[in-house]
Parts: sequence; C-alpha cells; structure tokens
Amino acid sequence: MIDLRSDTVTKPTPAMRTAMMNAEVGDDVYAEDPTVIRLQERVADMLGMEAALFVPSGVMANQTAIKTHTLPGDEVIVESGAHIIQYETGAAPVISGVQLRTFTAPRGIPSVDLIAPLVRGTNYHLPVTRLVCLENTHNKAGGTVVPLDVVSSIRQFTKERGIALHMDGARIWNACVANGTKPAEYGRLVDSMSVCFSKGLGAPIGSAIVGKKEWVLKARRVRKMLGGGMRQVGIIAAAALYALEHHVDRLAEDHANAKLFADIVSRSDTLTIDRSTVETNIVAMDVLKTGKDAAELVAMAKPHGVLLTDMDPRTLRATTHLDVTADQVVSAAQTLLELVP
Ligand SMILES: *Cc1c(COP(=O)(O)O)cnc(C)c1O
Repeated sequence: MIDLRSDTVTKPTPAMRTAMMNAEVGDDVYAEDPTVIRLQERVADMLGMEAALFVPSGVMANQTAIKTHTLPGDEVIVESGAHIIQYETGAAPVISGVQLRTFTAPRGIPSVDLIAPLVRGTNYHLPVTRLVCLENTHNKAGGTVVPLDVVSSIRQFTKERGIALHMDGARIWNACVANGTKPAEYGRLVDSMSVCFSKGLGAPIGSAIVGKKEWVLKARRVRKMLGGGMRQVGIIAAAALYALEHHVDRLAEDHANAKLFADIVSRSDTLTIDRSTVETNIVAMDVLKTGKDAAELVAMAKPHGVLLTDMDPRTLRATTHLDVTADQVVSAAQTLLELVP
C-alpha cells in the first residue's frame, strides 16, 4: 500500500525509538520531566517565544489556546476551511463557549480586508471579538503557505483592535522549509501558536503551544482541565526532540514529491489541480469533471494499492511524508492517472 492519506500515518524510525527508549523521565504534572522541559525550551526557542507547553494532540493544542484566550460568549474569527472549524468536532463552542465567525479566503490566504468587516463594534448587544485564528500551512487549501507580510499586516490590525492572534501552525515547519523563513519569524507576529510533531516530522504523538510565560501558565491549567496532564511523557517528548533535530530539513523532499505527484496527475483531463497551491506536502485535487465524488475515487484507488483522502465531496487529497519514497509517489500518481485519465 502507498499511503498518501495523511502525513500523520508515519511510524517512528528505529533511531527515534532508540531516543525514546533512552529518554530521561519524571512526572510532568509536577513539571519534573527533564525531557519534556528540554522539548518545551527548545520549541519556545525555535518559535522565538517565552514558553511552550507539550500537549497530546493538535486539537488539544488549538482548543487549549482558544480557551486560554477567550471567555464564554466571545467571538473567534477563523477562515471557513480552517481545521479549527472543520475537523475539531465542534469543540470550540463546547469547550470554550465561544462563537466562531468565518470568512473565506482564496487559497486559504487571509487578509485584513477579509477580517476587518467581521470585527464587532462596542454596542453591548454584540459579542466581543476576542481572537483571530490563522492556519499555516492551510491544510484544506492544499498546504498553502501564509506569507510573513500577510501575518504581519494582520498582526498590526489585531494589535490596534486589542484582539489576540493565534496561529494553527500544525505544519509551520513545512511553511518555513518551503519559503525559507524561520519559525521564529512567524512566532514573533502572533500571541500564540500550536505546532505539531506527529505530522510531517514523524513523531508518534504530540503537539505544543507557545506564547508568553504567563499565558502558558494559564494554558497549563486549561490543559489539566481537559485531561491533558500527562506523567512520564519524556518518553514521547524524546521522539519530538529527535524529530526537530533530524526531520525538519528533509521536509523539502516531501515537498518535491508532492510536486512530482501533481505534475503527473495534472495530465488528467478530468482531475483538476491548481498547481500554484502545491507549495508543500499536500496536493488538493478537484474531482468535479471526473463525474465522481472524492469518496468514490478513494474507493477506486484503494484496490490498486493507493490510499487517498476525500477532504469533501469535491476535493481529493494526497499528502507526502517520511514513509513514502519518490518512486512510490510517482507510481501512485500514475495509478490515479490511469483511473481518471
Ligand atoms: C492535523 C491538524 C491539526 C491537529 O489535529 P490532530 O488530529 O489533533 O492531530 C490541527 N491543525 C491542522 C491544520 C492540522 O492539519
């Protein structure tokens, strides 16, 4: 099977497992796990932030951040395709009692012009606009990179309006490898960011949120409330540390493989790819002209040994990662091209 469903399907490498086995551990609820402490310091440093908090999943990272920033009844502005509204089981209104308000951005790239009209005035009938969430790279748009100057202008706007800015940076590593920036260049423009170790970086589990010291202390309390206080988790923090050390630069290979895949599949007359969106490790394909929906195409490819994802009825997704080679990616693309020429 060539598994292009997601970059979450990677398995820890033998070297990563060795790092896990040898990890020094302690009780992290007491903040006494030396490996977790090392990871948090490393991540905060990479993101140019004061502090970081290790959490089990990307969803918990985003939801902990939202709850730490907001009060019940507040409004949070997100792009309509964002993971926070699409793929987190409706968590924000349940966990934080907030209302999500959306705008739709071409290629998932937001702008002040799109966000500004959604910010509420001060009339007391209205909810309070407390937080804007960005996503980088933008998953549903096909792994597009939000440029620094875009974040910078949004930052200027939210700061003027007293609104917090969170970035869902599950794939910030991909964004930075793609455009040659440093994670800290994005980090210094936001109040908080979530980052993921179990996507392209290949760790088996784990995410982190970063922010100011006091904010992270508050987030620590929220994490505990959500059941995310973990004990001797140096054993998994070691995998994340290993991944940060060894698996960031190689994301360029995944990006090259995604382009390879897109080049082949775009020979199809019916499966449409906007190749300008293929900036990182995700290829989003529009199935409209094939006369089939994305789920049908997923089912058709499977018996041929190719696993893909239907993002929505019209969008088929292929994601490259550590556990697929260039040859496998080419072979999967050729198979798909034969199924929908
Ligand atoms: C995967 C992902 C997350 C985290 O989801 P988990 O299922 O908790 O790993 C958050 N944001 C984005 C954009 C993602 O792609």
